[in-house]
Amino acid sequence: MTDELNTIPIPPELEGAVTVTTLDKLYNWSRRSSIFPMIFGLACCAIEMISAAASRFDLARFGMEVFRATPRQSDLMIVSGTVTKKMVPQIVRLYNQMPEPKYVLAMGACASGGGPFKEGYNVVSGIDKFIPVDVYVPGCPPTPQALIYGLIKLQEKIDQQSIKTVPWYNSDTIEAIPVPILGPDLIDPRQGGLIARETAVEEAVVEAEA
Ligand code: SF4
Repeated sequence: MTDELNTIPIPPELEGAVTVTTLDKLYNWSRRSSIFPMIFGLACCAIEMISAAASRFDLARFGMEVFRATPRQSDLMIVSGTVTKKMVPQIVRLYNQMPEPKYVLAMGACASGGGPFKEGYNVVSGIDKFIPVDVYVPGCPPTPQALIYGLIKLQEKIDQQSIKTVPWYNSDTIEAIPVPILGPDLIDPRQGGLIARETAVEEAVVEAEA
């Protein structure tokens, strides 16, 4: 597309004053340059996220310094820290409250896959079991530089999107993710059928043994 654009003639007197680009490029440039992350931290990784936003690393260089205190004004959720089962319903609820377009970055080993607490009784093995993740940043904790690298990768992902195909302009409704229920353990409503089947099998085994 860039090559095609380069062939569009511009009168010599307008060279330097006129540029030709695509709507997609303009649309994506404006979105990637003004991402509003949500103020939201779960554990140690959040300290590195805060550091990335402070003066030494300065996320303002990427137009990302305006951390918002509400999901309704945010388009990026940085899941920074250990994802406990107790927090998952809140995280999913906040994600649902974010308007489209919205993105999720899993920061660190805990948010990406459970980290040092994987298989622990109180944590989940990655936030991607519940909400879609766009970028994973490895590390325990990732450095501010690593987070910034992940944010640049997110910008590159945004660059690849097209106004014609992005889901938020389709006529299809984007369904909210069912909020998990925290009881004695965490229950994902999307697994309701599986849970019912396994419970029935277990009850049948107990009855047969009785
Ligand atoms: S990945 Fe490491 S630094 Fe980050 S929240 Fe987990 S234990 Fe803490």
